[in-house]
Amino acid sequence: MTQSVFFFGNGSAEGTREWKDLLGGKGANLAEMTNLGIPVPPGFTISCPMCDAYLKDGEVPDGLREEVDRAIARLEEVTGRGFGDPEQPLLVSVRSGARVSMPGMMETILNLGLNDRTVEGLARQSGDPRFAWDSYRRFLQMYGDVVLNASTHHFEALLATKRMVSGVKTDAEVPVELLQALVVEYKALVRSSVGHELPMDPHEQLWGAIKAVWRSWMIKRAVDYRRQYGIPEAPGTAINIVSMVFGNLGTDSGTGVAFTRDPSTGERRFYGEFLVNAQGEDVVAGTRTPLPIDQMAAAFPGAHAELMRVQDKLETTFRDMQDLEFTIERGRLYLLQTRNGKRTVGAAVRIARDMVKEGLITEHEAVRRVQPEQLDQLLHPVISNGGHRPLATGLPASPGAASGIAVFDADVAETRSKAGEKVILVRDETTPDDFHGILAARAVLTGRGGMTSHAAVVARGMGKCAVVGCTALAVDSSHRLFTVGDVEVHEGDWITLDGASGHVYVGDIPTQPSEVMRVMLGELPPEDAPVFQAYNEILSCADSVRRLKVRANADTPHDARQARRFGAEGIGLCRTEHMFFEGERITSMREMIVAHDEEGRRRALAKLLPMQRADFEGIFEAMDGLPVTIRLLDPPLHEFLPHGGEEAKLLARTLGISRQELTHIVEALRETNPMLGHRGCRLGITYPEITEMQARAIFEAAANVTKRGVKVLPEVMVPLVAVYQEFANQRAVIQRVAAEVASESGVDVKYLVGTMIELPRAALTAAEIVGVGAQFFSFGTNDLTQTTLGLSRDDAGRFVPFYVENGILANDPFQVLDTSGVGKLITLAVHDGRAAKPGLKVGICGEHGGEPRSIAFCHEQGLDYVSCSPFRVPIARLAAAHAALAAE
Ligand code: PEP
Ligand code: MG
Repeated sequence: MTQSVFFFGNGSAEGTREWKDLLGGKGANLAEMTNLGIPVPPGFTISCPMCDAYLKDGEVPDGLREEVDRAIARLEEVTGRGFGDPEQPLLVSVRSGARVSMPGMMETILNLGLNDRTVEGLARQSGDPRFAWDSYRRFLQMYGDVVLNASTHHFEALLATKRMVSGVKTDAEVPVELLQALVVEYKALVRSSVGHELPMDPHEQLWGAIKAVWRSWMIKRAVDYRRQYGIPEAPGTAINIVSMVFGNLGTDSGTGVAFTRDPSTGERRFYGEFLVNAQGEDVVAGTRTPLPIDQMAAAFPGAHAELMRVQDKLETTFRDMQDLEFTIERGRLYLLQTRNGKRTVGAAVRIARDMVKEGLITEHEAVRRVQPEQLDQLLHPVISNGGHRPLATGLPASPGAASGIAVFDADVAETRSKAGEKVILVRDETTPDDFHGILAARAVLTGRGGMTSHAAVVARGMGKCAVVGCTALAVDSSHRLFTVGDVEVHEGDWITLDGASGHVYVGDIPTQPSEVMRVMLGELPPEDAPVFQAYNEILSCADSVRRLKVRANADTPHDARQARRFGAEGIGLCRTEHMFFEGERITSMREMIVAHDEEGRRRALAKLLPMQRADFEGIFEAMDGLPVTIRLLDPPLHEFLPHGGEEAKLLARTLGISRQELTHIVEALRETNPMLGHRGCRLGITYPEITEMQARAIFEAAANVTKRGVKVLPEVMVPLVAVYQEFANQRAVIQRVAAEVASESGVDVKYLVGTMIELPRAALTAAEIVGVGAQFFSFGTNDLTQTTLGLSRDDAGRFVPFYVENGILANDPFQVLDTSGVGKLITLAVHDGRAAKPGLKVGICGEHGGEPRSIAFCHEQGLDYVSCSPFRVPIARLAAAHAALAAE
């Protein structure tokens, strides 16, 4: 029979810290500490698989009772006490302890083994009847609540009465006689509440507690926690049954919690708090204010010296910052728990870097220790202090925190921001037409849309905070307000968004820029920025191990410079259409769209050419020496047209046509499914003059900057190709214009022409597209996900969260690449593309390019690079390193 109960005590344990799968995190570490000779109260661990077995069958697994009996007998022998012995009672704690720590999610029972007889023994043994009876009443309360589900507030009410009767303020002052009376009342309460007595037999108590802890694996908060952190359901929690030590036996006893390093800054200093004459729950409950750990040396010199030795040993053994719990019983130190401590991301990078310097861990290990997603917090502003209640919560689309006045349309956002106000653009959903509003706003909030909706993509690209798909929001743009329940927020009212959590707050909650950001912006010297230094060193290590290159999606010279500061090795996607929304350009763009004929279009395009060329020059200069992928015009044309009456009137006047005529043209351009309509390369094919103008802007810009000594590597990218003929058509136009510009300028710029793969048919016929000259592929996984799943990226936010919550989808496929579906198309296209052209350059530029799990997939598929918004570049660098290390 396999062993399910593992003993520890008297300096040796059945297990080590490597046995987490079996013993859970807490159990494995208790075993390790015991083996290290660290003082740990003796006890035993019931293995994790027993929880799984119990939850499946509803029965205690065969043979387990006998094993537990033997362990109890051994514990009695080691402690010299007896379970239920009225003279020398053995008391135990029963605690959960899963493989991955789930702090506070499951149940605990203390002082188990107390009954009407053993309480007297405890009183004699401790010489403190008040302590014994207080322990007993605490046990009844905990057991009644956790095991028997008696209603807790009645316990509290009875205790409060005792405080009142005795005229004291705290529980600690209630005299022993009243505690004895309270015990009688508690027992009666349990009887009337659950219909039977609370068991007095310690063995019966123990099994009740064990089953309750197993059941607590399935309580809602535990289930939610596992879902949130991706912790698997099996094999459940281990249970640790440990002989009690008491920190509340007088002024020579106490209890505390400590970290081997500062968990918020990462500094190497022992950090913690303790309480004299108290049990662990008193520290947590916050009824008394704990003292800083430095003062412990004076209160408990011996125990303090020992604790310093122990913490040193724990760090060198676990090679990570430890979070430990201890109790001092009559001057003697006992460790109750140690685990890797939770820390802020700033502390995480510092500790990882410092531990390399101290020789505790390798550089690779340090890289592994920092979670890519966490890095976000280092770059974006943060809400300065906690304790605020959110009004609503949406999808955390783009991190950062920002406060501003709510405004409900893009023009108002622009005007008020120009007037020096801080604005937050609130829309039901945004369209490319809102671009200037997003640009002007400090943050964006939408009622609809998912993580790849327009607002989300654009805001992330700009490193701007965004909360999208906040369905609790009823946005009424015409009245310039939104409501959440009966709260109304009007234009001009202050709101604050936290894009990392998706929280929306009413009011102006203070925020501050991060240290790392201040260094990058040149506002803080690196030598004064310890977090920045550690961040920089960890990322340099990551760069040396990763194979994937990391580029950025950037549309403007400003974004390109930003991306470079973040470590981008090129631009993987420049969405040229974003340039058409700024200032005067939109008018020329509209002029082009409504033109009757080619000549009219060319006239308008001629106005756009110099502006676009200037942008490209700026981007090429910012990316000197690095490749820049420029995508030709992609969105459906009508997105550029005016929506409102005022705008239309103005446009008609500028263009010298009647309102009616304009309405007619706009109507004619309207499509039922614009996302699947006249967009992408279909525009450049039907209106080749658009592609001509864009190609000319690219090559003229390249020639101009080359003359100024800038090294340019343009890669022209054709969007939304479905059949190879489309690509061939556009490539011919691009090549012709390139040749023209080369002869006009006398500069022969080397360039590539490639395609996006964002439709299943393109992936399926990759070899054919390479066959007509595609020199690179870039997976546009936003559209590829949309078209593979037949799921609109702008509407997914309405029900995909429901799918995820109900397990129909593991993740939102617009956030985490659907590797088994969309991924298959990627695998196929890479394979066929490279079979047709060995060494074909392949990248990804959809939002997945900045998402760690998707990046791991890209690494496995042998892609050359990932491309993501500038703010995600550091995350992608680290995730690419993790992927490379995982494959080692
Ligand atoms: C894509 O579809 O993945 C892509 C990058 O293009 P866009 O998001 O601009 O459609
Ligand atoms: Mg696309």
